[in-house]
Amino acid sequence: MAENLITLDNVIKNFEGPAGTINVLKGIDLRVSTGEFVGVCGPSGSGKSTLMNMITGIDRPTDGTVTVAGQVLNNMSENKLARWRGKTIGVIFQFFQLLPTLTVLENVMLPMDFCRVWTPRERPERAMFLLDQVGLADQAHKLPSTLSGGQQQRAAIARALANDPPLLVGDEPTGNLDSKTADKVFQLFNELIAGGKTFLMVTHDTSLAGRIPRVINVLDGVLYETDGAGAIVE
Ligand code: ADP
Ligand code: MG
Repeated sequence: MAENLITLDNVIKNFEGPAGTINVLKGIDLRVSTGEFVGVCGPSGSGKSTLMNMITGIDRPTDGTVTVAGQVLNNMSENKLARWRGKTIGVIFQFFQLLPTLTVLENVMLPMDFCRVWTPRERPERAMFLLDQVGLADQAHKLPSTLSGGQQQRAAIARALANDPPLLVGDEPTGNLDSKTADKVFQLFNELIAGGKTFLMVTHDTSLAGRIPRVINVLDGVLYETDGAGAIVE
């Protein structure tokens, strides 16, 4: 069942700056199979977020091909991409990005309203199911600001699961949590992997990265794969 969920072929990304062209991704090849938990590491400014934006279709490559869940992203219209992303990828942010005027339950329902996989009648029930899964059923009717950081991130994870996407991505999703809370959220990620999700996670946290089965390092625009012990593998 280990089909490729993510395929990057010779992906190049350049940005035009005042001092000329910055070559951020220099021909990236990457294969991620369904069910993998992959960490993305590398120094600040090395291109981790740029790489994630290629995979989510939030930004487009200068050259090369990006295929996710069988869909080639390069030439999709913005509209089609947004719909596709809503159903295919759950995005988890460092600073949660919950809407402050909506309850936790309403935040989780928002992606369902956008993608219409579930009928309006099914949505509250599904949102409660997801909040229960992340241990927040009793917080459903509160505003996000009344929750702790760890609770807010778990609410954001429930929201990322709203449309039951095969792929989850996080850009430093534990970066704003203390180490104990980060640990609990990490456990939740492992449960989601055990449940069949695929997860690509940027992290600076070396103690967490050491517990991710596969880690790719972005360095000078090129990828290096390392094993759990940090040794470079081919
Ligand atoms: P990381 O996430 O690893 O810290 P980024 O992917 O955010 O790194 O950035 C990689 C490089 O690309 C940096 O030098 C950054 O300044 C540059 N960069 C990122 N986005 C843009 C942009 N929209 N325009 C110009 N340069 C950018
Ligand atoms: Mg970044």
